[in-house]
Amino acid sequence: MDFQLTPEEEAFRAEVRAFLDENLPKGAKKTDPAFLGEWNRKLRAKRWVGFSWPKEVGGGGGTIMEQVILKEEMSKRKAPPLGTCMMGLAWVGPSIIQYGTAAQKQRFIPDILDGKYQWCTGYSEPGSGSDLASLQCRCVREGDEYVVTGQKIWTSIAMWSKWIILLVRTDPNATSKHDGITCLLVPMDSKGVTVRPIKNMSGGAMFAEVFFDNVRVPVENRLGEEGQGWQVTVSALQHERSSIAEVTGLQRKLEELKELARRSRKNGKPALADDGIRRRIGRFEAKIEGMRMNGMRALTKQLRGEPPGAETSINKLLRAELEVAFGELALEMQGSAGHLAREVDGGRWQTFALSWPEVVIGGGTPNIQKNIIAERVLGLPKD
Ligand SMILES: Cc1cc2nc3c(=O)[nH]c(=O)nc-3n(C[C@H](O)[C@H](O)[C@H](O)COP(=O)(O)OP(=O)(O)OC[C@H]3O[C@@H](n4cnc5c(N)ncnc54)[C@H](O)[C@@H]3O)c2cc1C
Repeated sequence: MDFQLTPEEEAFRAEVRAFLDENLPKGAKKTDPAFLGEWNRKLRAKRWVGFSWPKEVGGGGGTIMEQVILKEEMSKRKAPPLGTCMMGLAWVGPSIIQYGTAAQKQRFIPDILDGKYQWCTGYSEPGSGSDLASLQCRCVREGDEYVVTGQKIWTSIAMWSKWIILLVRTDPNATSKHDGITCLLVPMDSKGVTVRPIKNMSGGAMFAEVFFDNVRVPVENRLGEEGQGWQVTVSALQHERSSIAEVTGLQRKLEELKELARRSRKNGKPALADDGIRRRIGRFEAKIEGMRMNGMRALTKQLRGEPPGAETSINKLLRAELEVAFGELALEMQGSAGHLAREVDGGRWQTFALSWPEVVIGGGTPNIQKNIIAERVLGLPKD
């Protein structure tokens, strides 16, 4: 592992910092639509949305290392996201770049970069989550169309999305369950699609059940070959897990937690002066540093042209553990106010503490990460 940046990379870091000084001054109203519109326009002009995507599709053609620098600096300053089409940028776009036809790239990539609309992800089903390859959503080809019938669940932001990247079963008789799965790109306003929002425990409805009743999808909307859906998905999810910028996000959250500890009281003193709390915060720091080193390990592999590897599951597992522990400590330090929805900081710690399923379950549960670490990192036998 080489921790030194090249002079070019140092220059790029300085460029990002200068951009942030100029365009994200202290006190900027980051949620104001006028500010966000201008922010996104400037990011697009610099080609920092889709920064690592090839220049020929409209991306920035940036190196992996530059991308890490960009995301780190943005995260340190709590900048708004790099682009607004979340799943489009995270994995739909990269999958289309890797597996899409020229027509699909032309049709979808510019809109994803411009954030014209949202994409959602139709993978999980009521009987298929961790064991995704057991999915049953039925799909039959009729001439130039596929006909889809089945149900998806936990589909984040389905109610605000214009398109869904959907996994369906085209061959129920395939010898392996990983074969016979196909990936389709489906407009959410297709006839026969019904979206039913699911309310979560923090009171919001961010995900939904999505029903498909004889939905007709043109064959030209297939991503990759028929039966190749599993490979499309695996490479797409690798994009999800390859980021180390989440470490910067955790460091920032820990700083906020320390700040809360300075303001909170325990046994008549600031909570930050309490030995037990200091010990817990110290452990958080050590784990985050471990995550940073592990992230560097994955990054080193990527810089050598290899995939980031199963080690990224270690960071997924630790992040889940840490975010839950942060939420618990934040509520504990508020004492009896911890039970009240809006007493401290407008209730953001309560919302944070109730949002754990997103980091713990979304993208693969801790048990599944442990299986991956045991089998693919430690080389332990399956049973
Ligand atoms: C906030 C949130 C957003 C989500 N967004 C989306 C989305 O946009 N699109 C989408 O398709 N899905 C989405 N999901 C679904 C998510 O991917 C699944 O919930 C997840 O994969 C787990 O599947 P499951 O809920 O069916 O649980 P199950 O797979 O039924 O697991 C239940 C329990 O059994 C354990 N378990 C299962 N298999 C094993 C095993 N082999 N070894 C050991 N333990 C095991 C699990 O760890 C878990 O504790 C989202 C989930 C959440 C919470």
